[in-house]
Amino acid sequence: MTDTKKKKKLGLTTTIFIALLAGAAFGIFLCYVVPSGHVKDDILVEGILFVIGQGFIRLMKMLVVPLVFCSLVCGSMSIGDTKKLGTVGVRTLIFYLFTTALAVTIALSVGNMINPGKGLDMSAVKSNATAVQEMEATSLTDTLLNIIPDNPIGSLANGNMLQIIVFALIVGIILAKLGDRTETVGNFFSQFNDIMMEMTMMVMSLAPIGVFCLISRTFATIGFSAFIPLGKYMIGVIVALAIQCFVVYLGLLKIFTGLNPFKFIKNFFPVMAFAFSTATSNATIPLSIDTLAKKMGVSKKISSFTIPLGATINMDGTAIMQGVAVVFAAQAFGIHLTIVDYITVIGTATLASIGTAGVPSVGLVTLTMVFNSVGLPVEAIGLIMGIDRILDMTRTAVNITGDAVCTTIVAHQNKALDREIFNKSGE
Ligand code: ASP
Repeated sequence: MTDTKKKKKLGLTTTIFIALLAGAAFGIFLCYVVPSGHVKDDILVEGILFVIGQGFIRLMKMLVVPLVFCSLVCGSMSIGDTKKLGTVGVRTLIFYLFTTALAVTIALSVGNMINPGKGLDMSAVKSNATAVQEMEATSLTDTLLNIIPDNPIGSLANGNMLQIIVFALIVGIILAKLGDRTETVGNFFSQFNDIMMEMTMMVMSLAPIGVFCLISRTFATIGFSAFIPLGKYMIGVIVALAIQCFVVYLGLLKIFTGLNPFKFIKNFFPVMAFAFSTATSNATIPLSIDTLAKKMGVSKKISSFTIPLGATINMDGTAIMQGVAVVFAAQAFGIHLTIVDYITVIGTATLASIGTAGVPSVGLVTLTMVFNSVGLPVEAIGLIMGIDRILDMTRTAVNITGDAVCTTIVAHQNKALDREIFNKSGE
């Protein structure tokens, strides 16, 4: 490396990627070159690499409950305002929830077809600390009843995500309803949300070290056999994202509005490219509203509500990554998922998408909640983290396309779509 290159500060993405490659190389070296013994097994693999890797996973887990709780309270505070927008709000919400549930279903199906985790025996890497909780078979009635927290403080303490989400949604809606009377509490939650976002950034800045240790421990234990499953996982996520974007969204757009879907994608492409390069739904809000107004003829009256709401609660791409990751982890750890488990994953990933903030990597943090809901070990997240950034970029582009398609459909239904602008654009 030349001096000038060395001086350039590398971005987090590049550093994580380098850590992934270096970790894999170091792990392979340990696996095939260094003979087994006290130094390799006890000091390196089960000592240093294990402690740092697990420490990083614990830091990620530390974020989940407060992050999801605060961002959901803040998110539902804004949904609480939907009364003002009447049918627009309700239609938008239904569309957002429906497309997300569909996205997870597509992801689970693609995952089961590609079988990304087959052939990867992660049970060897399984740690005692976060051993797989054996799931007791729960009935559908129990699963439904368990959504309602009988003790919300207990749910927070135990990290019962579904119950936390329900409680957070209720708190947020009530805060919106009471308005000025509860301004202080509302401000408290949005400031706490800022704190959690900052903390997430801090933890993510340690990701290169965490990824290096997790990946090298994995490769040191299982050698080359980890490469193919990771590649399959990536392909699975990208295929499911493509289906969601080009079949589901464009199909819905054609059915509901009759607009030319190809022209829509062509017009919207710059926004997708921007989302791809930043991996941040939030940052694309202004560009998205502007593009929808100037090139698609969508009234800002609609988009100024639906786009920020979508950037906060509608993350179909993130839900897709989580669906494929569930199949990957279950297969890698040899855990059989029942139909009830799959239904739980569809529910939690849909809710996790609401709780995922529109900034880079948060989808990985909320993935721990989806894993917990069906008793999958979070170690698998360490494995996919190294290649997550590229998938984060791709899924963010899909996240915001979902918001834009929904906005256009809702605008059409509320007579707030100027077709002339759409037809004339790009001529
Ligand atoms: N980066 C995504 C977004 O901003 C969220 C995630 O999946 O991490 O939409």
